[in-house]
Amino acid sequence: MGTPLETRADQAEEIVDRLEDAYPDSTISLRYSNRLELLIAVILSAQCTDERVNEETKQLFETYDGPEDYANAPQEELAEALNSITYYNSKAEYIRDSCETILEEHDGEVPDTMAELTELSGVGRKTANVVLQHGHDIVEGIVVDTHVQRLSRRLGLTEEERPERIETDLMEIVPESDWQQFTHLCIDHGRATCTARNPDCADCVLADICPSEKGDSEVDLASGEPW
Ligand code: SF4
Repeated sequence: MGTPLETRADQAEEIVDRLEDAYPDSTISLRYSNRLELLIAVILSAQCTDERVNEETKQLFETYDGPEDYANAPQEELAEALNSITYYNSKAEYIRDSCETILEEHDGEVPDTMAELTELSGVGRKTANVVLQHGHDIVEGIVVDTHVQRLSRRLGLTEEERPERIETDLMEIVPESDWQQFTHLCIDHGRATCTARNPDCADCVLADICPSEKGDSEVDLASGEPW
């Protein structure tokens, strides 16, 4: 078991510093070339890997161009175009509905406020945060996906379980200038080393400050269960 720094703010800062050294090019891995494509890619990425989404959107973004195309596409046709994605039927419906709202209420533009974005179909705070950060350069919060959720708990930054509450805890301790990067660093480390089922603690740059480190900690703080 590693020994966390004295305060959670110190711990968060140290984690960011070390992960920045380990992953200097960390950034969003979804592919898109405009705000609408970003919104659609993020909607599709819920409970699906970014690789799978990128694979599927290659063709999708060639076929459909702009909110009219999606809003006017028959449900079955759009669902068929997405059929390798998890929950493709619901996601096709979210995309059609969102594009209809974008056309009717936002002059065809992806909105740039948390309130307006979260009114779109299938868009929660996490999706809205990603669109604000990468589509509009507005950082209002911290994107809490499954990797951020798991690593924040393992590393002793929060004891909360729900993403919204984890986000609130993190916003109090992670410097605002690092809010966006914190997510990408956690995702990279979560994929490369601190995986859900079998984290490689022996080869982890955070081992000495991680209270879940498998060497002699018996508990995975992410789940609260023994390793
Ligand atoms: S890999 Fe192990 S030591 Fe590193 S952050 Fe994850 S649980 Fe902690």
